[in-house]
Amino acid sequence: MATIFSKIIKGEIPCYKIAEDEMHFAFLDINPLAKGHTLVIPKKEVDYIFKLDDNELSRLVLFAKKVAEAMEKAIPCKRIGLSVIGLEVPHTHIHLVPINKESDIYFGKEKLSLTKEEFETIAEKIRDAF
Ligand code: AMP
Repeated sequence: MATIFSKIIKGEIPCYKIAEDEMHFAFLDINPLAKGHTLVIPKKEVDYIFKLDDNELSRLVLFAKKVAEAMEKAIPCKRIGLSVIGLEVPHTHIHLVPINKESDIYFGKEKLSLTKEEFETIAEKIRDAF
């Protein structure tokens, strides 16, 4: 069965899209740790990031770098933190989170609750910087 992220790529489930290329897709995390929290995924459905082959993993990280550079321009922060967890959705994804301090990327903390308009504004800013 297709993962929820494959359905997002196909447009069957809505998302706040950031960017896409032939092999990758990026969109805002719906339960963000910080404004701009973005997920970067390969279009190929592979559950565990370290099961990607070397070429796929390298290209995923390079795509994430481009997204992170756009986020840096769009969101005031010290840097973009990167994390991989993957316990919830069995489709490889890199979390990119704007951070100012270590605890900003602590996944146990309460997530932000943003309005549709806030998500749309943030996504547009990052897209414009991409
Ligand atoms: P994990 O697999 O533990 O890395 O967490 C999966 C992440 O995907 C969580 O941060 C969720 O908030 C996020 N997520 C799950 N469903 C969606 C969705 N439909 N749109 C955007 N983000 C999602």
